Amino acid sequence: MSRLAGGYPDGRGAVMDAAREHEVIVVGAGPAGATTATALARQGRDVLLLDRHTFPRDKICGDAISAGAVHIMRELGMADKIAAAEARGEFHRLDGMRLVSPSGHLIRAEFRRGVAGEDSYVAPRRYFDAVIHKQAVECGAQFVQAEVKEPLLEDGRVVGVLARQNGEVKAYRSRVVVGADGVTSTIMRHLRPEPAQHVDRHRAVALRAYIEDLELYPHEIEFFLYDEILPGYAWIFPAGDHVANIGLGMRLDVFRGLKKNLKQMLRDFLDMPAIRERLTRGGVVRDVASWQLNFGSQKRLQHAYDGALLVGDAAGFIDPLTGGGIYNGLVSGVLAADVIDGALRAGDVSRERLRAYERRCNEKMWSTMRKSYLYQRILMNYPSVVDAGIRYLGRHNGVAKTFLSKL
Ligand SMILES: Cc1cc2nc3c(=O)[nH]c(=O)nc-3n(C[C@H](O)[C@H](O)[C@H](O)COP(=O)(O)OP(=O)(O)OC[C@H]3O[C@@H](n4cnc5c(N)ncnc54)[C@H](O)[C@@H]3O)c2cc1C
Repeated sequence: MSRLAGGYPDGRGAVMDAAREHEVIVVGAGPAGATTATALARQGRDVLLLDRHTFPRDKICGDAISAGAVHIMRELGMADKIAAAEARGEFHRLDGMRLVSPSGHLIRAEFRRGVAGEDSYVAPRRYFDAVIHKQAVECGAQFVQAEVKEPLLEDGRVVGVLARQNGEVKAYRSRVVVGADGVTSTIMRHLRPEPAQHVDRHRAVALRAYIEDLELYPHEIEFFLYDEILPGYAWIFPAGDHVANIGLGMRLDVFRGLKKNLKQMLRDFLDMPAIRERLTRGGVVRDVASWQLNFGSQKRLQHAYDGALLVGDAAGFIDPLTGGGIYNGLVSGVLAADVIDGALRAGDVSRERLRAYERRCNEKMWSTMRKSYLYQRILMNYPSVVDAGIRYLGRHNGVAKTFLSKL
């Protein structure tokens, strides 16, 4: 171990983890990071996966997992783990959805066997993330609990990270760093200059809680659109026969204009007659917490740097209509692993080479993001047509599938 020249900015001095340079360091072991690590480890790459938490851990989320995400997990070898989690009741299978318009029109749709014949689930993140994290480790990624403070830069190139482990700041070196540290990403904030970060109209806030005294449609997820939060929505996602994830989310600029408190808005939602009559004990909620979302609808964001890539929420890949980001997190993780593997083989981890990742993300996600942003603005600017639209679309089962495929 040697002291890093100049020491760490907090004056403590960083200890060099001089043992060796890794091929890839993935910062953040949520769905995007653990998927990147799994895919790279399966290709035989030497991966160090860092997270400030150990697993299992909670993450504020609606917990809805689309069939597309399940399909990617199966392709990465997780079929047995998914079946086991379902058998333990940790993954709760969905059969359909209900969408309620501002004046109470309801559309229902079934969606068993979606993308590639897979099912969709509600899976609390305590369980869901643990599955992919375990897979990454079993495939050979080395996991270390450490809080990353900043990327390590040399001549403008990312060559590793500084991270606090057991109270000590250490330097970990690698050929490539993947920022998978979520919406408040430390890696992203150091690499993307502030004027090039997300603006309020491409961001959202959302609140999530669990409720156990609500009569449920046990295998149907429910979305409620109403004037106050459009183009956002409130949700009830059953995570079992007697427990549901509930919450609401809306665009950040809309929220700022409302001058309201999210917890009060949740109480107001539970107080709506159609919901209140389903409460057996007045609405007992637990684990109430809020968090931010960055949409993939903002143009020209940089995701590739010299020696580094951003994936999942760190890049900002959440669908602007549904608020779903897990599927895109998994997609970006697989694409990142593929591009990194090629770059390492070619011995070139420059931004020029890694920009292939930006192009492939655009090919895979941009057209959906653009459409979702268009629908989102229609919901916001023409609320009077929402009811008519829902009545019309209600005759088409396809709308539910489209909505869910964007999670
Ligand atoms: C209220 C709410 C509801 C949502 N509902 C849904 C839904 O139902 N379905 C859906 O698909 N999406 C939903 N989303 C979006 C979804 O939660 C995210 O898109 C998804 O979690 C992104 O995964 P990720 O791996 O990129 O980031 P995260 O899941 O945020 O994981 C990031 C990881 O990085 C770690 N980390 C962060 N900083 C550091 C650091 N400095 N050092 C080390 N580790 C660090 C964290 O501990 C965490 O484990 C919701 C979001 C919110 C806020």
